[in-house]
Amino acid sequence: MGIIEASNKTFDINVPVLVIGAGACGCCAALAAHDAGAEVMILERDETPSGSTSLSGGQVPGAASHLQIKAGVNDPPDILANDLIKKAKNQNDPEMARHIAGESGTTINWLSEQHNIPFSVQNIFLYPGHSEQHMHVTPELSGGELITCLLNAVSAKDIDVVVSAHVTDLFADADGRVVGVQITRPDQTLETIGCQALILACNGYGGSPEMLERYMPEVAKIHYHGHVGNQGDAVNWGIELGASVSDMGSYQGFGAVVTPLMIHLTWASITEGGFQVNKDGVRFSHENQGYSEQARKVLSQEDGIAWTIMDQRVQDVAMRLQTQRDAFELGGIKHAENIQELADITGCDLDTLTTTLNGVAAMTRGEEDDPFGRDFSTHPALSAPYYVAKVTGALFHTQGGLDVDLNGRVLREDSTPLPNLFAGGGAARGLSGPSDWGYLSGSGLMMATTLGRLAGRKAGESIEG
Ligand SMILES: Cc1cc2nc3c(=O)[nH]c(=O)nc-3n(C[C@H](O)[C@H](O)[C@H](O)COP(=O)(O)OP(=O)(O)OC[C@H]3O[C@@H](n4cnc5c(N)ncnc54)[C@H](O)[C@@H]3O)c2cc1C
Repeated sequence: MGIIEASNKTFDINVPVLVIGAGACGCCAALAAHDAGAEVMILERDETPSGSTSLSGGQVPGAASHLQIKAGVNDPPDILANDLIKKAKNQNDPEMARHIAGESGTTINWLSEQHNIPFSVQNIFLYPGHSEQHMHVTPELSGGELITCLLNAVSAKDIDVVVSAHVTDLFADADGRVVGVQITRPDQTLETIGCQALILACNGYGGSPEMLERYMPEVAKIHYHGHVGNQGDAVNWGIELGASVSDMGSYQGFGAVVTPLMIHLTWASITEGGFQVNKDGVRFSHENQGYSEQARKVLSQEDGIAWTIMDQRVQDVAMRLQTQRDAFELGGIKHAENIQELADITGCDLDTLTTTLNGVAAMTRGEEDDPFGRDFSTHPALSAPYYVAKVTGALFHTQGGLDVDLNGRVLREDSTPLPNLFAGGGAARGLSGPSDWGYLSGSGLMMATTLGRLAGRKAGESIEG
């Protein structure tokens, strides 16, 4: 795997714009390159495209979209940009955050109006750090449905998606211009494809234990819940070509993956008033600061687990999302008629659990302050019957990546762009700053869809003739 120096190479075939990866970023990049008039092809290592996009909750932020305006949601881009910058404590790239927020509504309009993605505004609950209803979803509220819709849109434009096509090497000239790629087929045969522009849409390095150990050793051994085929190829090729990378220790975690099923709860289980206790039946954190940083808080408890406690009202809201339904149907979320049953299921001491529940109820009534700083007063106290799930913390996706300009052009160490290399989605540096606490819900798919669209458009426009 790497860069092969080549300037006058002939290829098996030539396609002006090549996209590596058929997730949300690759699909959006290919659609935009096609819309710009270029011939484009997607290369995907898996037999069936899925990526982390298919595992996701499928929630895509967009500011001032036509759908929001129609739904009466007043969400100018400044609000989304400020949410992104505030969540990352001013340690992300504010220019990129403002740019992506500013373009995000156009992306939603473009996908829904020109490419028939059946988006609507998600008005069920607000994610931590969201000051407005930024999220757009497809009817089932699932990433599986989102990637199916995107692939249908790609197919409707007759864009080729070549599957079982693992890109293993890039051919580049001495100036860093990529002239083609080499793919390895499952039977180990090699094929080469020449290109004039290359878009890296093959996500980050969550699937590479070696890169996790190098860049984020503190979470290298925890459960990785994203797509295992994301092996850091974009970053490694980029570095070899002289690209600069940033925030390589940054990641999105998640503090409520049901164990041992390994299906994640939706965060509505927390935002609507649910909370977490450890094995002793005691709360240990402000659960609603963000699901990413919650992963480490859960993992620091005994055996690295916690119990997420909900009631019927919370569970009803959360069940609107596919992964909650999956977890419930497979028995990962249990029903408890009363506190005694809750204690039986969790193994927590009844008196301690009762004290914890009473304490939270007092906080919802404003009679007590939460020692962890959470405001419980926005929702009613939980009441029997309850729902409870045993959860652990996990790594969802890496947030460091290639530095790119506002059109997704990959930048060298000196900030000049490489001649014809683009990156978006998880392949590019995210908007989360340097650590795990900076991830604003939805910024993953926003970087995939919006940066993918911008990179695809620019790559398409760069094709001569
Ligand atoms: C469980 C989970 C839930 C999430 N929920 C949300 C959410 O609700 N909202 C949100 O905004 N974000 C969410 N995210 C993050 C979001 O899924 C990602 O940010 C987004 O999917 C990244 O899109 P992508 O196109 O860059 O990568 P992917 O969707 O992972 O696509 C990359 C593709 O590249 C392919 N590939 C990799 N290397 C090669 C190679 N060498 N050759 C050929 N193909 C290759 C892979 O097989 C893959 O298909 C979630 C993530 C997880 C794991």
